[in-house]
Amino acid sequence: MSRLLDALLTTDPVQRARLSQAGLAMLLLTAGVAAMHYYVWIGQAKAAAVNLWSAATLAGMAIFFVLIRSGVSRRWHEPSLTVPQMVFALTSGAIAYALVGAGRGAVFPIVMVILMFGMFSASPREMRWISLYAVALFGATMLTKSLRDPAAYPPALELGHFLLVATMMPAVSVLAGRLSRLRHRSRMQRAELAQALSRLREHTTRDELTGLVNRRHMQVVMEQEHQRCVRSGQTFCIAVLDIDRFKPVNERHGYAVGDAVIRAVAQEALRHVRASDVLARWGGEEFVLLMSDTRAALARGGLERLHQRVGALRILHGDEALGVTLSGGLAEHHAGENVMQTLERAQQALIEAKTHGRDRVVAAV
Ligand code: GH3
Ligand code: MG
Ligand code: MG
Repeated sequence: MSRLLDALLTTDPVQRARLSQAGLAMLLLTAGVAAMHYYVWIGQAKAAAVNLWSAATLAGMAIFFVLIRSGVSRRWHEPSLTVPQMVFALTSGAIAYALVGAGRGAVFPIVMVILMFGMFSASPREMRWISLYAVALFGATMLTKSLRDPAAYPPALELGHFLLVATMMPAVSVLAGRLSRLRHRSRMQRAELAQALSRLREHTTRDELTGLVNRRHMQVVMEQEHQRCVRSGQTFCIAVLDIDRFKPVNERHGYAVGDAVIRAVAQEALRHVRASDVLARWGGEEFVLLMSDTRAALARGGLERLHQRVGALRILHGDEALGVTLSGGLAEHHAGENVMQTLERAQQALIEAKTHGRDRVVAAV
């Protein structure tokens, strides 16, 4: 059953919604056709005319379905064909009204359901035009019938029917407007929620000061890289970078300037890593760089260049141009060790860089 529905309505959710709507409209009009044949059966309507009407109604709805299903309607302004389908169904309803004589009251509930269809997809403006069309169409049908066939369609009765239609239609427009506003609001809320979710995700994976990946997320990224390398047999490097003698920067210029320096260093460093590398703020003025699919020799070259560029950076503060240097420790991941062990060796190398005078890169053995 579900496979049959998939074949008939496709699996594309947008197309499926359009086709379900057209299919439902088709079922509704089929019920209308059955009702009309009942009136033929009880002698209220002429078989020939009703047969012709039935064929035209069903063929019309089938054409709408095929136009949507084949994708032809996608090329048009409104691929769901809601408005043309409603105009068609209303017209068919008005003709039924003219054919069915005493049973014509049955047309009204069907017309109401047709209009309800529109409320869910047509815009309030379209619904206003459709309501207006319905009033004009039924008005013209009632007038013509009461002039030509006053025995079956007494003018006084038709006037009553017309007044009913004419007062119900504005109500339909008002309801359609409300529904459309509701739809709009819920769409906005969904969009806001999605935005909030993406901000939240950003918040949990990014460092606020620098915009770099934060420590928590970096741990996940490193573990993923590790797993990837276990599978592929490749290797990766981890570098730990720390700004040299940063405490005096804070003490001399204040914490805010210290923050600006951290931000500038992060931005400059980011400019000199490869697109496949991940740079994280590990804490304070310390960064961790993950270099995927790289051996130590190559990594070292990249790291030396980054070290040089950050050393050459000048951060303007008043008349002063502040400069800082970096120390770095580098370690290549060894088969069989876990990420934290690699990181640990990089940190040891960093300590060595610091004890040997700072402003340098040291590779772990
Ligand atoms: P070295 O690393 O060369 O040994 O010396 P250092 O002065 O950089 O020493 P250490 O790493 O111990 O000091 C780091 C300082 O960074 C301490 C703290 O005041 C400062 N710091 C840590 N986090 C932040 C931050 O978010 N903003 C600012 N402005 N300063 C920070
Ligand atoms: Mg430091
Ligand atoms: Mg530090």
